[in-house]
Amino acid sequence: MALAVHGGTEPTTGTDTTKIKSTAIRKDGRYVVNGQKVWISRVQHSDWMILLARTTPLADVRKKSEGMSIFMVDLRAAERSGMTVRPIPNMVNHETNELFFENLEIPQDNLIGKEGEGFKYILDGLNAERTLIAAECIGDGYWFIDRVASSDGLAPPQVLVNSRGRLRGSRFQVAMSDGRFLWRHSVVSMERMGKAGIAAVPHAPGNVADRKMAAV
Ligand SMILES: Cc1cc2nc3c(=O)[nH]c(=O)nc-3n(C[C@H](O)[C@H](O)[C@H](O)COP(=O)(O)OP(=O)(O)OC[C@H]3O[C@@H](n4cnc5c(N)ncnc54)[C@H](O)[C@@H]3O)c2cc1C
Repeated sequence: MALAVHGGTEPTTGTDTTKIKSTAIRKDGRYVVNGQKVWISRVQHSDWMILLARTTPLADVRKKSEGMSIFMVDLRAAERSGMTVRPIPNMVNHETNELFFENLEIPQDNLIGKEGEGFKYILDGLNAERTLIAAECIGDGYWFIDRVASSDGLAPPQVLVNSRGRLRGSRFQVAMSDGRFLWRHSVVSMERMGKAGIAAVPHAPGNVADRKMAAV
């Protein structure tokens, strides 16, 4: 099994992806990449990165969503030839990093699909990715509620715990069940579009990652 990360976000470009500044210029059967990414998760534990970079400058495209392309980047090879990884200390449940590219060369065959169409492909993939992230957040939420409910004297006032230490009802529970409902809804929509096959509903700690792996 090979794992891949998503390399989209940049220091000056988050939600407005079309403004990315990293470039990939075709030259002698290769693409030469320069630029910077930030918040790229799981680089240290993965094999590949799907990298988004501009192959045509923003000023030269008809629509701003055109002119971006995606590439498969062999992470370990890239670390030896033009990509620097700087971990960002943080408190989420995975590692995340800054990436710096200085004349990183990628074989031309590593272009995914057609040059200039990358933004469309990214959007398609993000739908599945965000559904998986939602599953992770819901699983985390259940885990934290269980922790609060089982901690002696630590339950905040709005959490109601019955004599067996189980939550009876709280604003957390309502939020979780709303979240789970929305999550299921998005999964069913994606299944209808033929984009996902979700094997389980997340509600327990520990195996949330396994459940995520079973999805899509
Ligand atoms: C822990 C962590 C892990 C991550 N992992 C990855 C990863 O693996 N790969 C990757 O590519 N990225 C990753 N990201 C980046 C993440 O996808 C971005 O944070 C996200 O795209 C938002 O970008 P931004 O943080 O620059 O926020 P901004 O784009 O600056 O947005 C900030 C806020 O303003 C709102 N906003 C922005 N523009 C508008 C507008 N025009 N109108 C109204 N509201 C607006 C946004 O909705 C948001 O609430 C990660 C981020 C974090 C924190």
